[in-house]
Amino acid sequence: TEALKKPNLALWVNKEHQIWQKEEAFPECPPDGCVIHVKATGICGSEIHFWKRGAIGDCCVTHPIILGHESAGQVVQVGENVKNFVVGDRVSIEPGVTCWECEMCLKGRYNLCPKVQFSGTPPSDGTMRRFVSHPARFLHKMPDTMSYAIGALVEPLSVAYNAVTRAAPYLGQPVLIAGAGPIGLAMALCARAAGAHPICITDLEENRLQQAREMGFEMTVKIDLAWDRHQTAKRVRDTMGPGCVPQLAFECTGAGSSINAACYALEDGGTLLQVGCGAPEISIPLMAMGFREVNIITSFRYTQSWPVVIRLTDAGIFGDVTKLITHTFPIEQTVDAFETCADRSKLAIKVQVGGSVPYQ
Ligand code: NAD
Ligand code: ZN
Repeated sequence: TEALKKPNLALWVNKEHQIWQKEEAFPECPPDGCVIHVKATGICGSEIHFWKRGAIGDCCVTHPIILGHESAGQVVQVGENVKNFVVGDRVSIEPGVTCWECEMCLKGRYNLCPKVQFSGTPPSDGTMRRFVSHPARFLHKMPDTMSYAIGALVEPLSVAYNAVTRAAPYLGQPVLIAGAGPIGLAMALCARAAGAHPICITDLEENRLQQAREMGFEMTVKIDLAWDRHQTAKRVRDTMGPGCVPQLAFECTGAGSSINAACYALEDGGTLLQVGCGAPEISIPLMAMGFREVNIITSFRYTQSWPVVIRLTDAGIFGDVTKLITHTFPIEQTVDAFETCADRSKLAIKVQVGGSVPYQ
């Protein structure tokens, strides 16, 4: 009740690449939704893009918007039609609110809903604020044993979980993970939980590979951009050792050179699972892949992942996911949190607002 009187600080960006925090009115509670007191929100690389570049692909910041889509918090108001939540419930927020009426929604592939309203992605406002309303259908209860910081990691872990379900690695399958950012590392945790072994992780930056090793992924390759795709592929194969050619590659950089290297690192008959997003058109040796029956699969966001990811995380199946979080800021310092995330010299992986910092 005291907390409800605190200012509803929200984080805004505009198309002029400005970023600022401003107090908003307390949100209206929709009949089918709840008002959440947000306790932890992670910053995603896409938000740095919206701030610094003003767009991702065709998705442009045309008017000022509130960012944020990786959040967990506590229910403080419940809409009149909502039966399954009460004030005080601890929830993780699934940010993609879909229409539930279109063909893709009805098929259960609701990540492909053309009418999705995705928190913090233009034109929809996001969750990087103290209080936010959200439809109850896209709120997921968290066990008491799960921290809000981990509740906010369910989003990036869901990206990885969806990719794992698309490719289904099996026990003992050798896997390459290209890119050791938050998504690549979450991918590694998910692939390991699914039985993939060994897992080889690449990156350009030593600190990220160091983080991977601290999370138990010893097999790392620091990529030199002077190598061509064959040299990079050979480095990966040599690192994984004889008889251990990757059959599955989770590409988590979106960089053309990395995608090409993955194509050649893979065993014949293997699978490239593209998670990273880069230039709209990237050239790959499609015919050469065809003659080797290399599968190419994509993965976009997630469906039906929250309950299972919450369950797996709470049971410790992924190990210590909090190792992904390198920096935490109080809500009043959200702009500093964004600057830290954007500044490569700060060596951040996942930056969170709230979470383990006592606040609010
Ligand atoms: P990030 O930028 O923090 O991490 C990417 C990492 O790749 C960096 O550490 C970078 O050093 C490394 N890298 C860049 N070029 C490389 C190369 N040639 N070889 C090896 N490593 C290289 O980003 P992130 O938050 O971890 O996200 C990873 C990617 O996943 C992004 O492209 C993002 O847009 C995408 N993404 C996709 C989905 C989806 O639903 N498919 C969801 C979220 C994020
Ligand atoms: Zn739909």
